[in-house]
Amino acid sequence: MSDRIVSALTIAGSDSGGGAGIQADLKTFAAHRVHGLSAIAALTAQHTRGVSAVHAPPADFLRAQIDACFDDFRIAAVKLGMLANADIIATVADALRAHAPPQVVLDPVMVATSGAKLLEDAALATLKRDLLPLATLVTPNLPEAELLLGRRIADRAAMHAACRDLLAAGPGAVLLKGGHLDDDAGTVIDLFADADGVRELVHARLPHSAHGTGCTLASAVAANLCRGLPLHEACAAATDYVHRALLGGYRPGRGDVLVLDHI
Ligand code: PLP
Repeated sequence: MSDRIVSALTIAGSDSGGGAGIQADLKTFAAHRVHGLSAIAALTAQHTRGVSAVHAPPADFLRAQIDACFDDFRIAAVKLGMLANADIIATVADALRAHAPPQVVLDPVMVATSGAKLLEDAALATLKRDLLPLATLVTPNLPEAELLLGRRIADRAAMHAACRDLLAAGPGAVLLKGGHLDDDAGTVIDLFADADGVRELVHARLPHSAHGTGCTLASAVAANLCRGLPLHEACAAATDYVHRALLGGYRPGRGDVLVLDHI
């Protein structure tokens, strides 16, 4: 059959609270009118106030989920989120090498906003070695970029230098999220960097703490790639989408964090 529409595949963790992870990814794909597939790489017991337990599936069962998706669907973009440990990362890297999807968006999930650890320390080296070179785009926030590079990123100049060094580690492009840098001007500045240079994406800073923004941003980029946007435009549209989803955010639990509005 040659008339299959394109699909986006998320390989990530499940958030029982419905705000982040696979649940946010599938809502984002649906909001972009893109068919969403999922391979669950980790399960979390979680609500708006934190993560109480994490369970990783056997690596061969994760591989079976990924293979099932590639065996049937026309996958234009893969989004990678919480991958939990080195075994899972190696399995994902093998599967990506075998199936060679056209675009891979890597959200290098390490620590939740609540402080919960979502990637074992020992897995960081595997992520850098095995996954960064397979990524079309990597989307770290500042704490994740600091762990990837092993140094502090304290200002805008350091962010520009970090983009260059992350690019040298192998991904096709970098979207470095600046939300953790407190800017007096009331803006959040994300940097998009590829072989052509570094460009700024600027939004007004909103006075909310939210859950699932990183997952949503990377999924929105993947969905925009499925819709045929070039990478820089896919990133610009995705940052706009997260900004809008934050404006409509709501509090479904007792925690003081917003869950995004996926419209
Ligand atoms: N839980 C899962 C399964 C995730 O994939 C993520 C995403 O990064 C999080 C929690 C953390 O989300 P946040 O840091 O936005 O609370």
